[in-house]
This record gives sequence, C-alpha cells and structure tokens, in this order.
Amino acid sequence: MSEWIKAYARALGFDLVGTAPAQSPPHAESFLHWLAQGYAGAMEYLQRTAHLRVNPAELLPDARSAVVVGLNYAPAELPDTDYRIARYALGDDYHQIIREKLETLLGAIQAVAPDVRGRACVDSAPVLERDLAWLAGLGWYGKNTCLINTHRGSYFFLGVLLLTLELEYDAPAEGGCGTCRLCLDACPTGALTEPYVLDARKCISYLTIELRDTIPERYRAPMGEWLFGCDICQEVCPFNRPRAHQPLRARPTHEPRFQPRALPRLYDILTMDEAEFTERFRGSAIKRTKWRGLIRNALIVAGNKGDPALRPLIERYCQHEDPILRETAHWALARLTAQAEDNGCLTGNNDA
Ligand code: SF4
Repeated sequence: MSEWIKAYARALGFDLVGTAPAQSPPHAESFLHWLAQGYAGAMEYLQRTAHLRVNPAELLPDARSAVVVGLNYAPAELPDTDYRIARYALGDDYHQIIREKLETLLGAIQAVAPDVRGRACVDSAPVLERDLAWLAGLGWYGKNTCLINTHRGSYFFLGVLLLTLELEYDAPAEGGCGTCRLCLDACPTGALTEPYVLDARKCISYLTIELRDTIPERYRAPMGEWLFGCDICQEVCPFNRPRAHQPLRARPTHEPRFQPRALPRLYDILTMDEAEFTERFRGSAIKRTKWRGLIRNALIVAGNKGDPALRPLIERYCQHEDPILRETAHWALARLTAQAEDNGCLTGNNDA
C-alpha cells in the first residue's frame, strides 16, 4: 500500500513523496521555543494554533500516518519585471492546487480502503509540514531554515495527507550544509540570526506579506526591489544551483499553473485601485498582502529604485488618507531625493 500510494502521488505530479508516522514532530520543542522568543512577530495565528501544530492527531483523530509531498514551483525563467517577486508567488496560488491533488490521492486510497479517513493539509492547516517532510525523507534543514533536498534543492511547496492507515515509513533525510554560510551572509536584513534560526520580524518575506503595519524604517532600504516575498537565502544556496551530474537540481516546475502570470509594471501597481488589485491578483498568492500592503511595498521599491520618473506617482500618496501609505510615501520621496543627490555628487566627481 505504501509503495502504491507513493506511485499514485508521483503520477499526480508531485516531485517528492515520502511517508512518516503521524507523531508529534521531533522539532516541536524548538518551534515552541522559537515562538516564545517572539520571533514570529505579528503572526499570532502561529501562537494560537501551536497546540495543533505539534500534534497531528488533533487534526485527524486516530491519525497513524502522514504522506508528505513536495511540488517544485521554480519557473524556467523569471519574468521581466521592474521589481522582484518570490518565485512561489509568480504563478497561481498553490493552496488549491496542492489540496486538489491530495484530495484526489485520498479518494484513490478510499476507493481501495473505504474505512480509511484522511485530511489534506496545505500550509493553512496547522501541521509542521517541514518536520514531517524531514521525517519522511524529503529533505533536511538548511541553515536558512528551508527544507533542502540534496538532489532537487529547496524550491518546493510541501503538503501533508494525514491518514488513519498504518504504512511503512521512510527514513529521515540525511544531509547538511557543512561549513557553508552563504545564506546567513547574504540576508540583507540579518534575519538569519544564527544557523537554523530565523527572526521573522526581520525577514523581507514577513515584512512584505505578513506585516500589516508600517515596515520599520531600518529594513526599507535593504528590501531593495523585493515587492512581495524574498528568495535571497534560497538563490545563494548551492543546492539550488545546477550541476552537471545532478540535472534534476535545475529542472523547472512541470505544473502549468505555476508558470509566471503576466505581471503589471511598478507604474501600474502604483496607479492601481483596490478593485483593480482584486481583479488583477485573483487566484494569486499576492492577494494575501492586500491592496494597502502591496502599495506600501511598491512605494518602498520605488524609493529604492532611485528613478526620478517615479516621483509623481509617489507624491500621489503623500496626502493619502491612510497614515501608513502617507508616511511610507514621504520616506520614499526622501530616499529618491537622497539618491538623486548622491548621483549628482558622483557625476560631479566623475566630471572633475
Ligand atoms: Fe546551507 Fe549554504 Fe544553503 Fe545556507 S546557503 S542553506 S548554509 S547550503
């Protein structure tokens, strides 16, 4: 049954699949400690659902097994945009796509074993997917806190199908970063405070997506051109780079719905109203940041780009009724001005 389930999952398009006992995740203590340190920032839902996250049986009574799957989301090429978006958000929202596949898998299992109950969990269901993925042999923890598969890298969505069925289980994944610390050195906001520890409050992904409030000023310039999410700690990781003897490592996603959507230019985002935002990002993970969050981020990117042509667009928000947009616009204008002055100085020096 275990092998049949894994073969079925691969036939559904999952790149990685493994099985693990539906036990309390081995790193549950570390997760609770991480929460206690306040590293989750404003993601209070993590605190609220912590008891469920560390006990899969609360999600599915009598859960015995977890079928853990990974779906590659990396596109063959990045879209031509004047800002950056994390790869996982370039295509359609993954939640529905993975849930559909897991429910198809559950239906197939129940067709041969009608008494089996199951529950598909994708991100929103509070399971520590990464811990179960490690237990199921899909990958090991990198110092950037991502789950890394030695042969395939880390650009994967994870999903879990909890089952009341006993299965044969895979061995936990082996591997590690060795002496590498590229991600720690590359993170522009210092969010990786030490190997394997992410302070989400400093992470560009958290700041641009999860934080509803104003983005602290000290992180705005380091955000650079990241409009939604950030991939820096994965981009620098050697396990995401192609290697001649490991062709799978650079293989792009085969899921058509993860192909990059057509994206508006920064100009279009800064002139977009809420209705256009809703229409434009329907079915996209980008809608999570909501209109105000995206405009806030776009103002910071505009300030960081230092392009004087963006000044009139930023100025439109200087009198906006929303205090967060108003304050961010003033910051962006000041940054544009400062950069223009710097460039003027440099030009002056060069001329001299
Ligand atoms: Fe590990 Fe280096 Fe990858 Fe960071 S960049 S996760 S240290 S291998």
